[in-house]
Amino acid sequence: MALTLYNTFNRRKERFEALAPPRVTMYVCGPTVYSYPHIGNARPAVVFDVLARLLRRTFDLEYARNITDVDDKINAAAQEQGVDIGEITEHFAHVYAEDMRALGVAPPDMEPRVTEHMDDIIRLIGELVDKGNAYEAEGHVLFSVPSFAAYGGLSNRSRHEMLAGARVEVAPYKQDPGDFVLWKPSDATTVGWDSPWGRGRPGWHIECSAMARAKLDRSIDIHGGGQDLIFPHHENEIAQSTCANDAQYARYWVHNGFVNMETEKMSKSLGNVLLVRDLLKTAPGEAIRLGLLSAHYRQPLNWTEQLLREAKKRLDGFYGVLLAAELGPAAGSTAEVPAEVIAALEDDINTPQALTALSALARQANRASDSDKGELRRLAALLRAGGVMLGLLKQNPEDWFKRGPTAPLNPDDAKPAMEDSVIDALLAERERHRQERDFEAADRIREQLEAHGIVIEDGPGGASWRRK
Ligand SMILES: [Zn+2]
Repeated sequence: MALTLYNTFNRRKERFEALAPPRVTMYVCGPTVYSYPHIGNARPAVVFDVLARLLRRTFDLEYARNITDVDDKINAAAQEQGVDIGEITEHFAHVYAEDMRALGVAPPDMEPRVTEHMDDIIRLIGELVDKGNAYEAEGHVLFSVPSFAAYGGLSNRSRHEMLAGARVEVAPYKQDPGDFVLWKPSDATTVGWDSPWGRGRPGWHIECSAMARAKLDRSIDIHGGGQDLIFPHHENEIAQSTCANDAQYARYWVHNGFVNMETEKMSKSLGNVLLVRDLLKTAPGEAIRLGLLSAHYRQPLNWTEQLLREAKKRLDGFYGVLLAAELGPAAGSTAEVPAEVIAALEDDINTPQALTALSALARQANRASDSDKGELRRLAALLRAGGVMLGLLKQNPEDWFKRGPTAPLNPDDAKPAMEDSVIDALLAERERHRQERDFEAADRIREQLEAHGIVIEDGPGGASWRRK
């Protein structure tokens, strides 16, 4: 396998070499489960799902993606709703799993939860205290940043930039302003665990260090996550794990770019968050997945309706080939994956290039379709195998065109056209409602027609209609 990955740590593309092949270990920072996942949360899940599929062709992959089920945002939500944090985290862990399944994301091999690894977390903090890399102060345990000379190596920032970037809290118990919390005290109303430093709860960064070691190893091959996690989260994970484990923490650091809404970064505070759940009401999960893979993972992705429409159209084309070749539910998925697709993915997960290769195959297949059924079937099988490699084209083509339970993106490009006589009848009914001054009922009919791409125009001679 000739896989190259862009390693954030060394700021260059590097040939991937496993620490102890055929075993490969990969840890990806997972969700904090207190709200519905948005499209920005879905991107890393889909990107690392593709990388996992690629690695599994050659290696015995062990892929862990955590669930953060203790967090101050979760605590706040639980207190606000007057429920146990478990009620919130159970619900949203389930929601996350459901939404990711809808996007064709296979569950990772391991999904460790923070609450199930409290012993590992407390043990790791204890080791850091014993080694002089952490200290206790006023019920807190803090990591001593000056104790780790290599701090800042991942984010490549100066100490000044790091302090500004972390918006560090100045607290009297800190020996150094850059020091960060490993353990903090919990009051009687906040969830907490007993520890050598009193009843409390862990900081976020230590959780991943502890779970990566517990589930995978002291040294792992690949650590992934969104670019926003580089600093301080991953920088702090490196400091903790390197000091505790006396070993290189992760060999390759892989980070995906942001999803932007019309060039603005998606964030809850900006209120421009697009939930996976809502998107799934308007488009098949497979189209959302293809949309997420249409840009290179390190590039920012501008999420627009146009992008999603194009993704769906592209899938229509691919499934059209499978339909013409009469490839049923899974036929062809065991064919050899096209070399162009593998080459693209091995080149730092170049999914746009892989999709271009699939489009080229579809065009070739369409040219063959009339003259040579055998060639059509061969090309269609290649197309499907390449699609499956990306987690696409797994459906029966007939089911795809039926569109199942999801509403079409654009109402007038999938629903059968409404017949003229039906439109005339609805328009007459609307006129009746208007005469009776039941404008609400009249508006409902207008909306119903609009959903079918019919525009009503009220003129002096009554209402008329036209198709959009
Ligand atoms: Zn993490």
